[in-house]
Amino acid sequence: MGPQPRSRPPLWQASVPLIIGVFGAGLVAFSLILPTTPTLSAPVAAKATITAPAPAEVSKQAPPSPLPEPPPPPQEPIDCSKVPCVALTFDDGPSPNSAGLLDQLRALGVKATFFNTGQNVVNHPDQVKRQVDDGHVVAGHSWNHTDMRKQKPGKACDDAARTAEAIRNASGVETILVRPPYGGWNQTVLSACQGMTFILWNVDTLDWSTHDAAKITDHALNDSKPGSIILMHDTVPETVDALPGVVAGLRDLGYALVTVPELWTSPITPGQAIYSGPHP
Ligand SMILES: [Zn+2]
Repeated sequence: MGPQPRSRPPLWQASVPLIIGVFGAGLVAFSLILPTTPTLSAPVAAKATITAPAPAEVSKQAPPSPLPEPPPPPQEPIDCSKVPCVALTFDDGPSPNSAGLLDQLRALGVKATFFNTGQNVVNHPDQVKRQVDDGHVVAGHSWNHTDMRKQKPGKACDDAARTAEAIRNASGVETILVRPPYGGWNQTVLSACQGMTFILWNVDTLDWSTHDAAKITDHALNDSKPGSIILMHDTVPETVDALPGVVAGLRDLGYALVTVPELWTSPITPGQAIYSGPHP
C-alpha cells in the first residue's frame, strides 16, 4: 500500500487561515482604533465639562461676598434749637480701628464728626470715603499732628489746606473745619488760616490717657451739657468698646446725637474758634 494520497483540503478549510488572518488584522485595526477614539474624545469631553461650568461658577460666586452693606437710611433732621444735642467727635484717624468704629456707629444709628490728619487720610482713603458714605462729617486735624502754635502761621495753614485737599481727593467733600492738635491755637494762626474755622471741644473723655471704657463713659455722661462737643479718638480701641454705653447713656439723658454742623441751624461761617454749640 502506497502512501495515501493527501487529499486536498476543501476550499473552506484552505480559506480559514485567510479568514482568521483578515479577521485578526481587522481586530488589531479595530483595537487600535478603539482605544484611540475614546482617549481622543475623552480630553475634549473633559475639557468641555471643565470649561463649561466655570463661567457659571464665577457668576454664582461673585455677588454674595464683596457686596457692601447698603448705607443706612437718612435720618430725620434734628433741630438742636428745640432739643438738647451733643456731638461725638473722633480725632487722629483714620486708623486700624476705623472699620470697627464705623461699624459700631452704624449699628447704633449715630452720625459723628471725624477730624482726620492729612497723613492718615492719604494712607486710608477708603476709610475717609466710608466716613462720608455712612453720613458722618469729615474735617481736618493738621497734616501730621503738629501743634499749630509751634509752626509759622503760613506753614500751619498750608498743612491745614493740604489736609482739606486730601479729604476732598478721598471723599469728594469740601471742609472748612479744622481741629488744631492739642487744642492749640491763637488769634494769629486763626487769622492766617483764612476761610477756615477751628472746632475745639468742651468735653474731653480722656480716652487717649485712660484707655478705660468705664472712665471714658463716665466723662462723656457726667461732663456733657446741651451743645457739648465731645472729644474722643479713632485710634483708641477702648473708645470703640465704650461707644454703646456712651450712646445709650447720652440718649437716656435726653440728648440727640448729631454732627458738629448740626448743632447750629445755619451753616458754620469761617474765621471762628468754637468750643461748643448753642444751648437751647
Ligand atoms: Zn489729635
